[in-house]
This record gives sequence, structure tokens and C-alpha cells, in this order.
Amino acid sequence: MEYKYTGIILGKYDVGETDRIYVIYTLEQGKIRALAKGVRKMHAKLSGSLESFNLVDILIARNRGMGKIKSAIVERNFSVIKNNFELLEKVFQVIGIFGRLMEDEQKDEEAFFLLAQYLKMMNEKNGDDFLRFRIITQGFLHQLFSLLGYQLEISGCAVCREKIKAGGNFFSMSCGGVVCHKCGNDVVEKMRVTDNTIKAMRIFSSNNLKSLLKLKIKKEEITELERVSDLFYRWIV
Ligand SMILES: [Zn+2]
Repeated sequence: MEYKYTGIILGKYDVGETDRIYVIYTLEQGKIRALAKGVRKMHAKLSGSLESFNLVDILIARNRGMGKIKSAIVERNFSVIKNNFELLEKVFQVIGIFGRLMEDEQKDEEAFFLLAQYLKMMNEKNGDDFLRFRIITQGFLHQLFSLLGYQLEISGCAVCREKIKAGGNFFSMSCGGVVCHKCGNDVVEKMRVTDNTIKAMRIFSSNNLKSLLKLKIKKEEITELERVSDLFYRWIV
């Protein structure tokens, strides 16, 4: 039987003399693996179509076990990302996190569209404003974690549940979110967060990625957000 998928190439690894196994996040079936025969031979057309994070329409022959890739047509290759080392590095890191968190063959259309939108936004030319890409990446990660059922307490203090007042607050992964100034004194594992960082986390959890672009945020605050998502990710895995 042959099956048609729309998918995003997450990764690949070599097997045998000339073959390769691709990890693909598909709209129809979630994360799948499929074999491409002879793809490492010189001039193999298929290998260009199956470059990392290409969005492809792909035909896979499958009976029992792993399917074999018959053909692939590139819908988008996100060339702006591929031609910018800084962007490429960031996207590879995020794709790695995504691939690790998604389970095999669990269809999740929302996750597929979130990833596709993320790549699309990272691929938009925007001069040298790398901060913008860092914000989008943080928004994507928070939304991905939340889609998978992991949420931080950000509406109130994670310890006393009271409303967060301006200034002097903390983030603590062991408490599960934002911790107020008072409770923070008794928490060992914590980091200081600015009001703007807390605001950004609230926007991440409630909006789509597009609305993040209006967010005015300082470089140091993005670094804080990156530390938060890093702690969050390490807690999940
Ligand atoms: Zn508190």
C-alpha cells in the first residue's frame, strides 16, 4: 500500500551502504520513520527533497514494519533559515526538542501546524533583528509544552496562590511557576524575573505566535525567558 503524507523532516540517520532513515513529523500520523533506499548515492534526487525541516508531500510504501519513501515534493524549503547560520543553529535546536518530545505515530494536527507556523515565521526576512527570532522561539516552546499538557503557574504565585504584585518576583521550576517576593525567601531553587518577563510568559500561554511580534522586550528579559524554558524543558524530559 502507498500512503501520501504532508510532513516536516525532523532528522535523518545513515544505514547500510547508501540508505538513510528519515524522521518525519506528518500531519496525518505524527512522528514517523521511513527508509529512503540509495539516497546517499551521488545524484540521488530524493536527498535534496528530504533536507532537514523541509515541508514535503511524501509518498511512502508500507506493508509491515518501516515504510519506504517512494517520492517527495518540496512545498517549502525555508531557504532564509538555511542561509543564516545563527537562525539555522536555533531552529536545529528547537527541532531537536520537538522531535524528542513528540511520541511516535501519535497524530497531533495542532503540533504540526504550530511547527509549520514557527518555521514560516523564522523564515521571514527581517534584517539583523535576531531578538525577534529569539522571542518567536520562546513563544513556540511555551506553546509546545502547553500543547503537551505542561503548564506553568503564571496567573498567581505558585506557592501562596496570591496575585503577583509588581517587582521582586521569582521563577522556580520546583514550585512550578512564578513565585511572589514573600514566598521566594523560603525557596532554594529560584531565579529572579522581571515583570516584563512574567508578562511575556502570560502572552505565550494565551496567544498565537503572531501577536508576540508586538511585544516590546529587552535583551536581558529574553535571556531570562530562555533560562525559564530551558529549566522547563529539562524538567519535562
Ligand atoms: Zn507567594
